[in-house]
Amino acid sequence: MTSLNETHDPARRSFIGSANAPGNEFPIQNLPVGVFRPAAGAQPRVGVAIGDQILDLPAAVSAFNGVAAEAARAGAAPALNPLISLGPRAWSALRLALSRALSAEHADERLRAHLTPITQATLDMPVAVRNFSDFFASVFHATNTGRAFRPDHPLLPNYKYLPVAYHGRASSIRPSGTPVRRPRGQRKPANEQAPSYGPSRNLDFELELGFYVGVPSEFGATVPIGKAAEHIFGFCLLNDWSARDVQAWEAQPLGPFLAKSFATTVSPWAVTAEALAPFRMAAFARPEGDPQPLPYLDDAEDRARGGLAVTLEAYIASAAMRRARTAPLLITRTSSANLYWTVAQMLAHQASNGCNLEVGDLIGSGTVSGPEKSSWASLLELTGRGAEPIALPGGERRGFIEDGDEIIFRGFAEKPGYPRIGFGECRAVVLPAK
Ligand code: CA
Repeated sequence: MTSLNETHDPARRSFIGSANAPGNEFPIQNLPVGVFRPAAGAQPRVGVAIGDQILDLPAAVSAFNGVAAEAARAGAAPALNPLISLGPRAWSALRLALSRALSAEHADERLRAHLTPITQATLDMPVAVRNFSDFFASVFHATNTGRAFRPDHPLLPNYKYLPVAYHGRASSIRPSGTPVRRPRGQRKPANEQAPSYGPSRNLDFELELGFYVGVPSEFGATVPIGKAAEHIFGFCLLNDWSARDVQAWEAQPLGPFLAKSFATTVSPWAVTAEALAPFRMAAFARPEGDPQPLPYLDDAEDRARGGLAVTLEAYIASAAMRRARTAPLLITRTSSANLYWTVAQMLAHQASNGCNLEVGDLIGSGTVSGPEKSSWASLLELTGRGAEPIALPGGERRGFIEDGDEIIFRGFAEKPGYPRIGFGECRAVVLPAK
């Protein structure tokens, strides 16, 4: 697992002043990467967020040497994949070189010529994702959703033995800001005799942590749990949009299909695993009586440091709220510390049958609900399947998402004495069905 080095020094400051502002998302200890266009019509390329600016990585290549320069050069692409493909040594060398060049002590002033204010840039999809799978790693979410169907035994017998997941679609993953069209589908409410096809009436969000595979695995080979964390390049916020009415009818007996494949939204920045190293923590403490993981999912280091403390928030802003300039309403705040399974366990399990991982594969944690209602991370849970709607400022109520609503996720890692590591936003407005 990534160790701490000078790039994690909380005292390091940047010569880009906005990066040193307290509470800012992108201090010099963060350095997340994404794909941006500095102006309309410009070619997309890789950028690094620093304060309120984006550093154009390929344009700044002359500021770097050796492996770091090679990594910067790989940023001349419309996706992070070529850079990620260079491997962990290159990611780390680039981070170190950026941390030094952008620091107040070394201050490579040439970099100023390659900055664009974030507010002026267009942020694109960061990674070309070919495979997407989504786990179900919060035991609180699994219990909340299972209770509706099985009040006496909400968790199925496999839950504590393996990280449950489904395969999603990569074709409909979009970056923050891209509107999402309400899906149509087949649904059969209990009070109707026959199923019908039409716009979903129970559209929901799922607040999740996503991660990108950075090191592939061989076709037919497995990934040992002790090596699994090294395969992860970075993290993002992920909204696994879900049509609950479609899901309830179609998922008998197989897992999610059309109820979730219509859209997935991700935040535009990949926060690297190395940037989050200071926020590693013990894995979820299994209550007494829970089974221990099977050996292929068990590792002493992962137990000690495989957990991750990232705060995740979801907000809603209806069209009426936006017209009235009312601030988005916080509807849940949770933490990835609530996940029963670590990201290394998810990755090792995914590779445990020999299906190969590829650079840029996206893996979702599943809805990151915590134990208290204030940390439940979907409307299904928060409103009891729509029965207890949430009151919005201005008098509206929401059991599920309505047309024109905007769902906004924010995420950050923070602890006393360390600058806040922000994820940026993951937001999308829901448009009426076509
Ligand atoms: Ca999900």
